[in-house]
Amino acid sequence: MVLSSVLGFPRIGANREVKKAVEAYWAGKITADELTKAAADVKKASWTNIKSRGVDIIPSGEFSLYDHVLDHSASFNVIPKRYQGLGLSPLDVYFAMGRGRQADGVDVPASEMKKWFDSNYHFVVPEFSEETDFKLNFNKAVEEFKEAQALGVTTRPVVLGPVSFLVLGKAAKEAKPGFQPISLLPKILPLYKTLLSDLKAAGAESVQIDEPILVLDTAAALEKEFTTAYNELVPVAPKILLTTYFARLDKNVNFIAKLPVYGLHIDLDRAPGQLEEVANAIKSTNIVLSLGLVSGRNIWKADFSAAIKLAQQAIDILGADRVIVATSSSLLHTPVTLASEKKLTEEQKDWFSFALEKASEVATIAAVLSGSQDSAVAAALEANKASIAKRRAFEKNSDDTVRKRVAAITPEQLERQSPFSTRKEIQAKALNLPKFPTTTIGSFPQTKEIRQARAKLGKGEITEAQYEEFIKKEVETVVRFQEKIGLDLLVHGEPERNDMVQYFGEQLNGFVFTQNGWVQSYGSRYVRPPIIVSDVSRPGAMTVKWSSYAQSLTKLPMKGMLTGPVTILNWSFPRADVSRELQSKQLALALRDEVIDLEKAGISAIQVDEPAIREGLPLRRADWDAYLKWAVDSFKLATAGVTDKLQTHSHFCYSDFDDIFPSIQRLDADVISIEASKSDMKLLNTFKHYGYSNQIGPGVYDIHSPRVPGDQEIKDRLKSMLEILPDSLLFVNPDCGLKTRGWKETEASLINLVEGAKWARQNY
Ligand code: GLN
Ligand code: ZN
Repeated sequence: MVLSSVLGFPRIGANREVKKAVEAYWAGKITADELTKAAADVKKASWTNIKSRGVDIIPSGEFSLYDHVLDHSASFNVIPKRYQGLGLSPLDVYFAMGRGRQADGVDVPASEMKKWFDSNYHFVVPEFSEETDFKLNFNKAVEEFKEAQALGVTTRPVVLGPVSFLVLGKAAKEAKPGFQPISLLPKILPLYKTLLSDLKAAGAESVQIDEPILVLDTAAALEKEFTTAYNELVPVAPKILLTTYFARLDKNVNFIAKLPVYGLHIDLDRAPGQLEEVANAIKSTNIVLSLGLVSGRNIWKADFSAAIKLAQQAIDILGADRVIVATSSSLLHTPVTLASEKKLTEEQKDWFSFALEKASEVATIAAVLSGSQDSAVAAALEANKASIAKRRAFEKNSDDTVRKRVAAITPEQLERQSPFSTRKEIQAKALNLPKFPTTTIGSFPQTKEIRQARAKLGKGEITEAQYEEFIKKEVETVVRFQEKIGLDLLVHGEPERNDMVQYFGEQLNGFVFTQNGWVQSYGSRYVRPPIIVSDVSRPGAMTVKWSSYAQSLTKLPMKGMLTGPVTILNWSFPRADVSRELQSKQLALALRDEVIDLEKAGISAIQVDEPAIREGLPLRRADWDAYLKWAVDSFKLATAGVTDKLQTHSHFCYSDFDDIFPSIQRLDADVISIEASKSDMKLLNTFKHYGYSNQIGPGVYDIHSPRVPGDQEIKDRLKSMLEILPDSLLFVNPDCGLKTRGWKETEASLINLVEGAKWARQNY
């Protein structure tokens, strides 16, 4: 008998109940008890729904009000000192760690967030030091196990494993130099023993322990730690399913096979090729293999016959009793249910599976493998065959013009006419910018009024023409403001954009959109990634109208603003039938045409944002070069079709460039802007160390907080930047776009920024 399982479920609720409740709690509109109740209702719905879909193994304990790593830190008392002794309830301490707190005399910033592996989900980074005082404040795994049990649902609890928990964390400020969080393993294991033996006592038969770092190269050096940890935990714990996802195990499987665990979960969506190696490596043990066959990262209907074939391979090696059918990872990265989509056509709906539909998929695949004679299973299998056949037929409809264009891309198309040093001179004349040019990253505050106007347009309460009038006024306000305070290279402010990816997706061929396809990005922030369903092309200009309008209002140069191909790809659900490279190049060609059109329309600088280029980096270093090659080529393809006079910009929201520096140089953007206000000058030293040759605008202040930087503060930052970077290369700009800020702090901060640049001009 082959069992089916789901590794984790979205937390938001089918109607965004959890998001709404969390935000209402923050706003003081509901009590902690009411929040707990809202969360309990959503958990109940998830458990009972997954069960009703016929899934054997249902997860619990992975639900979260903010982030599961933060839950784990809070339960293990990994609470940095700055959040302690503030007189807050444990729940408020928890939220303060996640998002900071500024109220009633308390003023603490949020903890650092990092991207969860190669996804757009962010986790709150735990901070460790020699002083970390581990305590089991509460046992979430036991609590939720019992909560489900009371509803008549037996679950398999999910716990973040000790090695991953420590390795994903960082050394706290007060830690001694050279301190490594993993050195705390002996200190943390006793807590895990308590947690797991309590779980066993509560009646849990097995437990899913997530050790996702096992898919990283760095795990190879942690064999000893894994061995120690699991040899200690196995005897006291329920049966442990060691869980990995997002990439392949490679050689790490050799030591994993020696661990005394009950089972191992591998991701066969991302890395189907690893099945044979892993199955053979554990063949002579008793380890059960959980096969991640149904994607936890994408929304395409699983192809049952392909999944069954793969599973059969595992069964041939291990026997049916040692095989489980599962989702590839938690379904956290997919929307709740397709049932909420009212605008997709029936044809489109038939292509997709969201979380709940995926639960049915694992159940059906497992039933077929178990030899089920159930007529409903047979019908589901037939229906899947028909759906997949229709999808495959649709996939054959390629847009030959685009395909041919991609096939015909030449190396010359990737290069500007002249090298940067020549372009720099030409652009200096064309744009007539002063030394230390000031600019912003693109967006200005997306005010309530702007969002309301868009909502009204959506509901048909105002006409397209009225909306355009409104946006025009917004653009004019932004332009006049920039002129007034003395910025040099202007932007139009992006008021017409709902989102930097969706806005472009809606204007390109090849995308479809959901109404309710929310996926957690961090905390209560959810995004609705567009879905790429077919070849991408540009039916017409996308931004030229707004950029030219903005340029018509001023004599100063106006910067055109686009989202880059790799970022559009990474923040969408990509197609699974063709490579990411092909999709990226199609996007790049569409953007290339847009860039050329913008230049023709008289725009003299264009920024192509690529904040997601790093997040798309494969998890295994061996795969980096291939990715960076097409990712950088895509950017170049998008931007190199212009004359030397046009100044290209790019923007990245991050600052760790150490390991991908040559690729940043290879982009050959005339100007890049990067996040720099929170990191110290280490970052700029990287640029100096490698001798970065093009212009660069390291953010002079943090836009993620409403705090206004003083003008002296900005001068000091410029001063330390100028100690490292040549003055002829420096641009002066904020860290990122201003869309989440209010006007008040935006005005004050930018005035100080301009002051800072003036000061630099006098002193350097
Ligand atoms: N141009 C975009 C903006 O200013 C860039 C945002 C981003 O990099 N995330 O909003
Ligand atoms: Zn940014």
